[in-house]
Amino acid sequence: MFDSLSDRLSGIFDRLTRRGSLSAEDVDAALREIRRALLEADVALEVVRPFVERIKEKAVGVEIIRSVTPGQMVVKIVHDELVATLGEEAVPIDLHATPPVAVMMVGLQGSGKTTTTAKIARRFTTRDKRKVLMASLDTRRPAAMEQLKVLGEENGIETLKIVPGQTPTQIAERAMTAGRLGGYDVVILDTAGRLHVDEALMHEMADIKRIADPHEILLVADALTGQDAVKVARSFDERVGVTGIVLTRVDGDGRGGAALSMRAVTGKPIKLIGVGERADALEDFYPKRIADRILGMGDIVSLVEKAAANIDQEQAEAMAKKLQKGSFDLEDLKSQLQQMEKLGGLSGLMGMMPGVGKARKQMEAAGVDDRIVKRQVAIINSMTPKERRKPELMKASRKKRVAAGSGTRVEEVNKLLKMHRQMADMMKSMGKKKGGLAGMLGGM
Ligand code: GDP
Repeated sequence: MFDSLSDRLSGIFDRLTRRGSLSAEDVDAALREIRRALLEADVALEVVRPFVERIKEKAVGVEIIRSVTPGQMVVKIVHDELVATLGEEAVPIDLHATPPVAVMMVGLQGSGKTTTTAKIARRFTTRDKRKVLMASLDTRRPAAMEQLKVLGEENGIETLKIVPGQTPTQIAERAMTAGRLGGYDVVILDTAGRLHVDEALMHEMADIKRIADPHEILLVADALTGQDAVKVARSFDERVGVTGIVLTRVDGDGRGGAALSMRAVTGKPIKLIGVGERADALEDFYPKRIADRILGMGDIVSLVEKAAANIDQEQAEAMAKKLQKGSFDLEDLKSQLQQMEKLGGLSGLMGMMPGVGKARKQMEAAGVDDRIVKRQVAIINSMTPKERRKPELMKASRKKRVAAGSGTRVEEVNKLLKMHRQMADMMKSMGKKKGGLAGMLGGM
């Protein structure tokens, strides 16, 4: 899986991580190679371009952590970008609806739709203990109906009785009725495919959708077809609307172009991947694991993560010292705000603290949310270093400049300055008490 792309990338990074220092030219050269490797892996140009741009931005702005080489930092940056491009979190199939929950499978002929229908049904029955009914709506190919029936028999899953002469919508209706009457939790509808996306097919899909009111519409696409798979997904999404993607034949996919482009181009999550012909060859799509596979540098990534955690600790200790001295300027406020963002923003941070449910509700009611933290950081970024050290310099004209520079309003600048003043006062008084807030922060 993704072997050829993985080999290419590890070659690039081997050279990069072996160096003690990196010049801007080194980074540029590596980025050019990464770009070429991704394009050769058939990743969409519209994905590659911003991907490389973001890495460049981050690589330039990154603080170098002691104990980690610059090359290793770059590996970590690329890893994080891969995870982001793949969609960050796994998105499971959602069955939270009144049963029978309809799951509609769509895609081109030969993409692996029928096989995947059986794989998913098997997973729902064996792992999730659901009662599942499968129905083939492929009236154009009787062999397809027969194929689903056989797969059902092999895997102990019930299929809707085949009634010759019915239209796809009639079958869909019958399937949903059978689902209700038979007390099924899930009804999976395996629709017909075509060799290409065409009007007739799209109409048929829209009709079935109207009748079955599916909770999930899963587009099945063959990873080996690369960018064509992405185009097909886009067409189906535009015409029928899909809730997720199942990428098949990932077991034979050395390049990874479809996997890497799908989310970014269609905006729809890959929910599952098919990794073989057998009924159990189906896996959840975990962006982080996939990124690890593609990059093959899990050790370096965790090394950098650990080092970064140490830095956070060092920063907290330095902050504690400053507080004891009673100096807390806007630069310090900024690093506190950024620290907070790293921990998952305001909501993430508060979620970790016990007993803050009420405070959180109050803050939400007052309109304090994670976006505000970002805006506050932007305000501080628009100040000169001198202003950050001496907030009292911030008079009307400077406030106006900073508001314009950060795309905010003067009231927001005022609010931030007030917040800073209150925090500085509070910290000063607590810093005086031994083991107060300063002690607490140091121990964090
Ligand atoms: P459909 O026309 O879309 O219903 O496609 P099928 O379900 O009949 O699958 C076409 C072929 O692809 C079959 O031989 C399947 O065994 C094979 N296939 C489906 N999914 C996978 C997969 O994830 N990996 C591999 N290696 N083969 C697959």
